[in-house]
Amino acid sequence: MKVLLIEDTVTSATVVCQLLDKMGLEWVHARDGCAGIEAFKKVRPDLVLLDVIMPGIDGFEAARRIRQLEKDGEWTPIIFLSAKTGDDDLERGIAVGGDDYLAKPVSPAVLKAKICAMQRIAQMRCSLLVLTRKLDDANRELTRLSSVDGLTGVANRRAFDATLLREWRRAARARSPISLLVIDVDCFKQFNDAYGHQVGDECLKAVARAMEGATRRPADFVARYGGEEFVVVLPDTAEDGARIVAESMREAVESLAITHRFSSAARVVTVSVGAATVQADRGDEGGFGRLLKSADESLYEAKRTGRNRVAVARTAVEANP
Ligand code: GH3
Ligand code: MG
Ligand code: MG
Ligand code: MG
Repeated sequence: MKVLLIEDTVTSATVVCQLLDKMGLEWVHARDGCAGIEAFKKVRPDLVLLDVIMPGIDGFEAARRIRQLEKDGEWTPIIFLSAKTGDDDLERGIAVGGDDYLAKPVSPAVLKAKICAMQRIAQMRCSLLVLTRKLDDANRELTRLSSVDGLTGVANRRAFDATLLREWRRAARARSPISLLVIDVDCFKQFNDAYGHQVGDECLKAVARAMEGATRRPADFVARYGGEEFVVVLPDTAEDGARIVAESMREAVESLAITHRFSSAARVVTVSVGAATVQADRGDEGGFGRLLKSADESLYEAKRTGRNRVAVARTAVEANP
């Protein structure tokens, strides 16, 4: 613990410093208010012992300025040591930011006890801060986990719902197009039946990674919608762009070359992709539901026409008012 003593009277200062030495505490002595504030800035002490009557600025003003120097959440205990012993002096000392007010001459035993008490409070506050920081970290991790799919590590359904709504609103404001891909692994039931669920899980992880690797822009957003279905939100992307991304995702999965001897689409694991694009419209909150439905219908079309392919919905351009 580092103590800053701000005291102009040499005899008082000597008594206090001797006590601090005896307590084994490190200390710095400043002889007036201004020097005290400078020392505070430099030393950043753990405790300030502050005289009231001093040349230049007095102890009350010094305390006020010290409190202003502290950043949000910082706190340095301040104990006044003063010959001014009226109730109003004490009241003022506490009001300007002091934590205790002792009358001079201060008995060494009382000062020692007060310093110990302040030390205890400061330590408790410190452990509280550490705890708060840990809690903040844990909360951040929880928030992250609540939006991540446990198996594949891509975003989950919950995060997808929030992202689609947010991007829909952004697109409506910017009057820009937004595209959505719905991606489904082909004949995955047969894959699981043939190779087992564990291999199936590994396959889903690889598929998710491949799709994330195939995104092009930071805003492109891949999520697991559920089971072996994934969705991709492509903000500010028109039909042509959506088709290109969809095709590169399909290709990326096929290029994984995961053997699937029981697929009707290929000899390896493949996906079918349904894509849809809309021009978002202000005040049309339900519009993204139609986007999802439209992409779903395209997916069905891709399945119906042979799987391992991309189908794009006819763009429904919604007029802006
Ligand atoms: P289609 O080509 O028409 O999409 O056929 P499909 O077999 O892929 O579709 P279906 O909906 O009949 O079966 C999906 C299968 O996906 C059912 C289940 O065995 C498997 N599946 C869903 N979620 C998981 C998962 O988390 N892990 C594993 N291993 N398999 C899953
Ligand atoms: Mg004095
Ligand atoms: Mg499915
Ligand atoms: Mg499937």
